[in-house]
Amino acid sequence: SQATLTPALNLSTSDALFTRAKDHIPGGVNSPVRAFRAVGGHPVFMQSAQGAWLTDVDGNRYLDFINSWGPMILGHAPQIVLDAVQGAIGNSLSFGAPTRREVEMAELIKQMVPSIEKVRLVNSGTEATMSAIRVARGYTGRTKILKFEGCYHGHGDSFLIAAGSGALTLGTPDSPGVTPGVAQDTLTVPYNDLAAVEQAIAANDGQIAALILEPVVGNMGLVAPAEGYLQGLRALCIQHGIVLIFDEVMTGFRLARGGAQELYGITPDMTTLGKIIGGGMPVGAYGGRQDIMDNVAPAGKVYQAGTLSGNPIATAAGIAQLTYLQQHPELYDELNRITTRLADGTRQICQELGLNYTVNQVGSMFSVFFTDKLVHNLEDAKTSDTEAFGRYFQGMLHRGIYLAPAQYEALFVSTAITDELVDHYLTACREAMREAHG
Ligand code: PLP
Repeated sequence: SQATLTPALNLSTSDALFTRAKDHIPGGVNSPVRAFRAVGGHPVFMQSAQGAWLTDVDGNRYLDFINSWGPMILGHAPQIVLDAVQGAIGNSLSFGAPTRREVEMAELIKQMVPSIEKVRLVNSGTEATMSAIRVARGYTGRTKILKFEGCYHGHGDSFLIAAGSGALTLGTPDSPGVTPGVAQDTLTVPYNDLAAVEQAIAANDGQIAALILEPVVGNMGLVAPAEGYLQGLRALCIQHGIVLIFDEVMTGFRLARGGAQELYGITPDMTTLGKIIGGGMPVGAYGGRQDIMDNVAPAGKVYQAGTLSGNPIATAAGIAQLTYLQQHPELYDELNRITTRLADGTRQICQELGLNYTVNQVGSMFSVFFTDKLVHNLEDAKTSDTEAFGRYFQGMLHRGIYLAPAQYEALFVSTAITDELVDHYLTACREAMREAHG
């Protein structure tokens, strides 16, 4: 066989740190997927990053296709963001009082995502989605929410029902610790199936406050909405007085300046944001129609607060990154072109090797599903050969390519990936795919 042997990789410092970490931190990590449980081996501890490249604590370098799970759309350590943060630091790190940048940030978000008439800043995507459904419940006076199998909306109790991402990878899509009382208020149906939504609405007549979804799913691997699906959901929500929430924590400012809602031309009632909005700092946001958002305290009675919300350093980073994106619309075309080369190239390599794998791509997000089934929903995604994926992941890692360490995740491409780096990725991909299939 022509199988190329996996190059050696010295991970001794990472391994030593992981051993220490496991004594003090559950599973050794502060977010489950980082532990590499789904792909075997130990996690790599990172030291620094610049542009497209990560450097670990042993000095190994990797081409990064995670980009902090989305935020680093301009690659690592872009000068404009670093300058903004450095400029802000001298004025103290937090006030717990209003600041000019929060106003500027709100104005910027509204310009880029026009469906948002009022917006509240929080510290994570999880806070954004938790708050959004509370507001939708307060606004409608209804209790239930409808979500989709394999969609991930952070770790709020209401969302850990048929959840995607790490919950799915680790086999806990329904987490212990979520009370039956909470769970019964979350309805779940398969993604890309309008009839299932109609049935769920009919069976819970007048009880559903909100329908929340990833308009393009990143958390069961990358899954695109079928033709007409988002339009259908929009129409059903209007018909039944249900608040339509687009969770654009991943897709916001990524698939277009205005996110998936701009790309597909759909206007949700509310939108949740995170990741790119903070330029790598902890920021989330939720916003939407004014009549809904004016229910948020102190304008209205739905309570939501945060000691560090609108943090001056985080907003400095966020404003710098969002302003750059707003002023450079052409970068989205370039991101799409580069990502199409990555996705098409991967698909072609698989075909050459007799593997009819499914490669899904929307804009600068893509996934290689180790299955010959087309992937439109969670059930399709779960036909993937996760063991072969694990071998492929390790083969890529050892060739200096850092992929998401689980099948059920999307890859995120940054503007730092050049044509030359695409070639570099494809060379490694060909070798690692061959090796993974013996
Ligand atoms: N919503 C979506 C679509 C996400 O992908 C994520 C995280 O990956 C979240 C919400 C939760 O965001 P965070 O991890 O910042 O709490």
